[in-house]
Amino acid sequence: MIGLLGGTFDPIHLGHLRLAQALSAALKLSMVRFIPAAVPPHRPQPQASAHQRAHMVSLAIAACPEFMLDTRELQRDGPSYTVNTLQALRAELGQHVSLCLLLGQDAFAGLAGWHHWQTLLEYGHIVIATRPDSATHDYSAKLQRWHDAHHVSALELLHEQPAGCIYHQAIPALPVSATAIRAALAKGEAVDACLSGAVLDYIRAEQLYLNRPC
Ligand code: ATP
Repeated sequence: MIGLLGGTFDPIHLGHLRLAQALSAALKLSMVRFIPAAVPPHRPQPQASAHQRAHMVSLAIAACPEFMLDTRELQRDGPSYTVNTLQALRAELGQHVSLCLLLGQDAFAGLAGWHHWQTLLEYGHIVIATRPDSATHDYSAKLQRWHDAHHVSALELLHEQPAGCIYHQAIPALPVSATAIRAALAKGEAVDACLSGAVLDYIRAEQLYLNRPC
């Protein structure tokens, strides 16, 4: 079973790595693909370039053999829709392997704004990482109905079927966000506890995030 973690990774931080490690262990994933988004359709543009964000991911995951960088969204023209990525991975990896789209609860709460979101489950499962610290997210009535129709509580089902289920997995809290890290760097504050050392060295060498966004 393969996990897919999409994100802006502007920059990748320990919250992302903890998420991937916790879900990998709990779900018994054989691999997690980190998939940086090129032009996130519903987000402000990243501050670091696509190349810099991908490089930071490769630095952060270098010591974890079960993690890999997947740059397909950076190579595609136009917006990076998750449904297209799932379709491409399904075509590439075959019909039988279980694919799990790994999402924080905040990301799932915004799912109904994603391109063709209701078809995502044709290509993979959705695993929602729930954190003890996280605020309760109110889902829209439509998203809640869709969630309830596909939610399963048995992990075996994710291994037995290649796609189609929504599963919740509790993970330990690590209250870190890329937004807070960028703001701290712009103010010259320490962020050593939030990033891997190699990523922080690269940020300093490239002089990233020194200015606040306008
Ligand atoms: P930003 O602050 O710029 O919005 P972010 O830190 O939330 O960025 P994203 O690239 O938007 O990072 O997140 C990618 C995925 O990682 C999302 O599914 C998100 O829910 C999850 N995630 C982000 N931060 C954490 C964290 N501290 N713990 C667990 N999951 C996280």
